[in-house]
Amino acid sequence: MEDKTFKVTVLGCRGSVPVSGKKSLLYGGETSSYRVDAGEEIIYLDAGSGIYTDRPEEGKRVSILLSHWHIDHLVGLGMFLQKNRIKADIYGPAETDEEAAKLLRTLYSPPFWPVEMEALGAKIHALPYEMKIGEVEVSSAEGSHPNGCRIIKLEYEGMSVVYATDFEALDGAEDRLAELAEGTELLLFDGQLKEDEAEKSRGCGHSTPETGLMIKRRSKAKRLVIVHHAADRSDDELLEMEKELREKDENCRFARKGDELLSLSQECHNR
Ligand SMILES: [Zn+2]
Ligand SMILES: [Zn+2]
Repeated sequence: MEDKTFKVTVLGCRGSVPVSGKKSLLYGGETSSYRVDAGEEIIYLDAGSGIYTDRPEEGKRVSILLSHWHIDHLVGLGMFLQKNRIKADIYGPAETDEEAAKLLRTLYSPPFWPVEMEALGAKIHALPYEMKIGEVEVSSAEGSHPNGCRIIKLEYEGMSVVYATDFEALDGAEDRLAELAEGTELLLFDGQLKEDEAEKSRGCGHSTPETGLMIKRRSKAKRLVIVHHAADRSDDELLEMEKELREKDENCRFARKGDELLSLSQECHNR
């Protein structure tokens, strides 16, 4: 029987820089990367340090979609491709494939990194606003973040996940997100900041869990999962923030490394 599983796994949900130590054991210290299994496809959303330990099954197509080019979303890519010896298709926001390749080469070329991604067999593409990867529909919209960031939606078998990392509700970005996230099963949302921090750092390109909740309500998204936890935020602080959010809406949580956020098989689809 054809595999129709649709699954989202958190490989890393820390913002800005990987952290380690006792204070980050629960939520994890690896930077942004999420694995989406959709039937025969493996699609990674971002390639932060979290991607490195994942091992895609042989014979499956691997696609990596980059929300933007900031280092915390790219830092795991080189070792991941080298270690797994896979030929991935990499998509990032750019006008042309050449521009995308050039942007990636800025970081992944000597002297910053010993090998270029193409030498590992990777194919680099501009991320279009609409495309299909096998049976998965990919759509995206501009968020609001310094140097830009795409909001990415993946749809498969009538279900969807929307990824809004490094996002600030500015310049109409919240309208674009609410539209894209309309009725989605799962909204991954940048809730890096506390309310008082957000007031002080307008324009920094991040949001609060409360803004995520506002967008969840507006878009009627079924579940909200907060991602891109501040690098210096301890497990205790994150637990406290998560508790406050869940008191307002229990269909919310803060991402933890290893979480399976959406795991639906063929049986569930038929319900
Ligand atoms: Zn980031
Ligand atoms: Zn960023």
